[in-house]
Amino acid sequence: MIVELISVGTELLLGDILNTDVQYLSQVCAELGFDIYHTSVVGDNEGRLLTEIEQAASRSDIIILSGGLGSTSDDITKRVAMDYVGGPRVEDPITRERHAQHYANDPIFFAAARDIYTFPENAQVLRNPVGLSPGAWMPFDDQGQEKYLVVLPGPPKELKGVMEKDLIGLLQAFSHATTRSREVKIALLGEWKVFQSIKDLTDHSIEPTFATYVKEDGVLVRLTTKEPDREKAEAILNQGEKQLQERLGHLVLGPLEKSREESLVDFLIQERITVSTAESFTGGMVASRIINAPGASSVIKEAFVVYSDEAKTEILGVNPQLIKEKTAVSEEVCRAMLIGLQARTSCDLAIATTGFAGPGGDRAGQIYLGLAYKGRTHIYEYHWDSPRNRIRQRATNCVIDHALLMVKEGIHGEGH
Ligand code: ATP
Ligand code: MG
Repeated sequence: MIVELISVGTELLLGDILNTDVQYLSQVCAELGFDIYHTSVVGDNEGRLLTEIEQAASRSDIIILSGGLGSTSDDITKRVAMDYVGGPRVEDPITRERHAQHYANDPIFFAAARDIYTFPENAQVLRNPVGLSPGAWMPFDDQGQEKYLVVLPGPPKELKGVMEKDLIGLLQAFSHATTRSREVKIALLGEWKVFQSIKDLTDHSIEPTFATYVKEDGVLVRLTTKEPDREKAEAILNQGEKQLQERLGHLVLGPLEKSREESLVDFLIQERITVSTAESFTGGMVASRIINAPGASSVIKEAFVVYSDEAKTEILGVNPQLIKEKTAVSEEVCRAMLIGLQARTSCDLAIATTGFAGPGGDRAGQIYLGLAYKGRTHIYEYHWDSPRNRIRQRATNCVIDHALLMVKEGIHGEGH
């Protein structure tokens, strides 16, 4: 079954609004196992919308339009869609009543909203649990074949509400295969390195398919199978994860529904390990991420932002002479920060960051991430050529990964 998505709205064409509806709809449809070959965006223009629908109908079975269902003059989607599918129309009493109440003092608006409470006779109203305009599922005949035109409200919360309430259930009846996917998080490596390690799998493997993604909290590999049987699908995904482990070893963090920091904090809670942080260029991001995780209060001892040289000395007791000799961005200072942090907070796990986030300067992108745990200390040096805040974010991901691997497995391999 082929699904096609059309987003309606001039504001989308102008770049005023990010088209999150299409992202959400694509994800849901892919999960339901539909094929999607085209998505498009069209402005609030009747002629162009009609052309778009005609083209979609020539190549797809279910066409989902989003946006333009309201009652302002630029909201034309429902009218154009009803004209396209044709046939007699009826008023939906529930929607009519809601509008009558809403526009109780405004008969002109009530009359203008008629397109909203009118539906093709054979359509199914898709109730909107969040807003005023319901969606609609409209069957139509395309040269003897039944196809479907679906209209959905544009505001993302309303669109999602309608999808979850009725439409996903309706679509499920049409989906032959159910794709199942699993997101496997990868520690420490950048996307390019992960991609290189599994390039043959991303290029050639079909069951499951492998694809690398970067999300805010790091790199993940998505394994996807079209096997409809749940148990067989699980076995295929397990096999895929095993292949990943053969390539990337302990860096495969597993199919985590949780974020990296949640995994870390859960493990720290379980093992009763306390953690303190002393951050220079990450400016508290590491602590903030750890505190994002529920339960962090029982494991985090103290968190310092020691951005200036003075703070490193005053708070952590780093010798100013050492800073002068080696500079604040050095392995030696990172080590001294860890020692000072452990002495000051008597934590089990100490985390320190120091680096040049840039831009500018000879050493922009040079950073040190330090971890001390159970008498062992690791300092990782990286050189990254990225914008300032990407470096800070990446370092935060990276040190959280190092921390999890360190407490889980004792000392692990070299820095990457
Ligand atoms: P309303 O009744 O609120 O007018 P509508 O169904 O007519 O809803 P639009 O007028 O097209 O929807 O859009 C209303 C708002 O919904 C937009 O201003 C925008 O904020 C959001 N929106 C619309 N389409 C999208 C989209 N594709 N992705 C994300 N947001 C969207
Ligand atoms: Mg509108």
